[in-house]
Amino acid sequence: MITTEQHERLTALRRELHAHPEVSLNEKWTAKRIAEFLQQLKPDELLTEVGVHGVMALFDSGKPGPVRLFRCELDALPITEVNTFAYKSTVEGVSHKCGHDGHMAILCGLAEQLAKERPLTGKSWLLFQPAEENGEGAKAMLADPRMRATKPERVYALHNLPGVEAGAVLLREGSFNASVNSIIITFKGKTSHAAEPEHGIDPARAMGDLFQRSLALNNNVPSDPKMRVVSSVYAELGSKDHGISAGRAEVHLTVRCWNDAELEKLQHEIEDIANDLAKRDGLGLEIAYTQRFHANQNDPDIVKHVRNAAKSAGLSNWHSSGSICVHLRFSSTFDTCMFESSVISISRSAYENNLAFIRKQLNGARLCSVVKGECIRPRPIALRSHGGYRRCGLFRRVQCR
Ligand SMILES: [Zn+2]
Repeated sequence: MITTEQHERLTALRRELHAHPEVSLNEKWTAKRIAEFLQQLKPDELLTEVGVHGVMALFDSGKPGPVRLFRCELDALPITEVNTFAYKSTVEGVSHKCGHDGHMAILCGLAEQLAKERPLTGKSWLLFQPAEENGEGAKAMLADPRMRATKPERVYALHNLPGVEAGAVLLREGSFNASVNSIIITFKGKTSHAAEPEHGIDPARAMGDLFQRSLALNNNVPSDPKMRVVSSVYAELGSKDHGISAGRAEVHLTVRCWNDAELEKLQHEIEDIANDLAKRDGLGLEIAYTQRFHANQNDPDIVKHVRNAAKSAGLSNWHSSGSICVHLRFSSTFDTCMFESSVISISRSAYENNLAFIRKQLNGARLCSVVKGECIRPRPIALRSHGGYRRCGLFRRVQCR
């Protein structure tokens, strides 16, 4: 069990992290703070500045066995904090709204546990990843030879999931997070005087039809393997000069499907619509993509481990349902970065509950599967490009926000 002292220490750490948020790729202070915390636990190895600001700590049994990896994130979001509690963000326009401060505290709690009792077999790495929000951090870490050298076989990811009842674990085999892409479609027409639109080429009609036809492709049914989510994100048409008829339109959409193949298909259909409209109205056309996140695929064996751990900890779990695809942005990052994560979500009202779960997992593993070299611990990573890597669990938690 967590001692009161440990509970208070980890809570204080989470609040300290919460008060000092840093956006993606700027997590210098956060990484340093985490490295300091880990250093005093005397891990068998401590890596810093891994792929930008990544931090990794190793707790080694010194015996043969699986290499496990548990992951969390360092970055915050460019959102102004509206909370008024004592540990609110001290950085204007930046705050921990994704719960990464809590995830870090959870992993630090796990580090304390591992420092006290090394794994019985194999190795356990803890990884603190920068820039989850824009997908760049995992990519950068994977490009770092030190990260590659760790060769994790089982990767566990955890993330909070607001809106789910406390104590719930969301877990499923196969796709857990949707494949996501963002499309930017630009129609190029010709401006003219607003009194003489016949001398210009106005993209407004094409823009309207593009929205109508692409949004009609929606099949927003998460339980359907053919789920398709098309969302309008942003649009710009012409300028605010009232004497000028619009000559340019830009439409941003995001698309989500449960797998990459379906997503490709959906993208082609939207491209066809755009081409069709541009041709119809004599418009130039540019199509660009940004912020691609691949779908992750959970390894069934690891899902089983996590499910058993959740059961032994007395937590409920079920296959993910609709709400998950709404939150996928978080974990789809891993996929983008070639991480394969078997994902679990656990929702709890405070990180310490997750820590209790994790510890219970550890204890359970010790009693059973660790002996067989199958210890489960929370959290995540693995490289798809290194096919041998397995996935992870992902816990989501409700945090005070
Ligand atoms: Zn996140």
